[in-house]
Amino acid sequence: MAEYQFITYEELDDGAIARIMLNRPEARNAQNRGMLVELNEAFLAAEADDRVRVVILGGNGKMFSSGHDMGSKVAMAEYGGPTQHPTRTVNGGTRVSNENLILQEWHYFFQNTLRWRNLRKITVAQVHGPVYAAGLMLMWSCDLIVAAENTTFADVVATRLGMMGVEYFAHPWEFGPRKTKELLLTGDSIDAEEAHQLGMVSKIFPEAELGERTLEFARRIAGVPTIAALLVKEAVNQTMDNMGFTNALQSCFTIHELNHSYYAAKSNGQRWVATAEDDGIQDWRTAPPVEPALKNTVGGAVAG
Ligand code: ZN
Repeated sequence: MAEYQFITYEELDDGAIARIMLNRPEARNAQNRGMLVELNEAFLAAEADDRVRVVILGGNGKMFSSGHDMGSKVAMAEYGGPTQHPTRTVNGGTRVSNENLILQEWHYFFQNTLRWRNLRKITVAQVHGPVYAAGLMLMWSCDLIVAAENTTFADVVATRLGMMGVEYFAHPWEFGPRKTKELLLTGDSIDAEEAHQLGMVSKIFPEAELGERTLEFARRIAGVPTIAALLVKEAVNQTMDNMGFTNALQSCFTIHELNHSYYAAKSNGQRWVATAEDDGIQDWRTAPPVEPALKNTVGGAVAG
């Protein structure tokens, strides 16, 4: 079996269930390039293995994933020098200006997520803690989502980075159109209960039982004939595609790149996102914490 540095891959129930865990707990499972490439390899390995019926995707440590790795030493070292990640010199990595970003983000943020969404196996995201920004897209690529009681969901890239949302813009399909506008324009979060009411989350489990209860859930699904499971998935995904899901996401990816291009033009190519200094957004290091969307709402029984 492949050796992984940033994830773990387990075979359970004689291979019927593959469990992939993001394994950078010290970095809040931030997604660096190496992790995303390993994740793709792991998903494709599970897809190729005819014994596998269900794939679980979770995260070790305090949270599922805090989003893209925007600056850890590990991530910085992947950009260049002796530790440069090999994918930094292919798929647009040697191109200049926006062409570099447009191609690299298409391959490693957008197209890979879409590929996992279309995996020929049933996938279950097992999430806990704050699931922010690119943590959402990883989770959304899965067929089903189960969450610990302490889970919160937010896309803070508009308020913290001046961007219209993450590269895989599934928000309107998951939250609904108005809730998407609200959450993106405020940076507020929803909790597991609200996500359950929206239909985004299937089950809420106590945090201490998350791994075991997710496994029980996956075992029920693994008992369904593989052809039925696949065609249920395909029927739903094709229905969404007939409503425009994949085309809409492709369009929104282009809009996302337009947003990056704005900052590149404004800064003569020095940066791709907003900064507190130049664009008046709140500095993410000193910005107030993410607030629950229901706070201070009549009937919104959220403390604090
Ligand atoms: Zn981007």
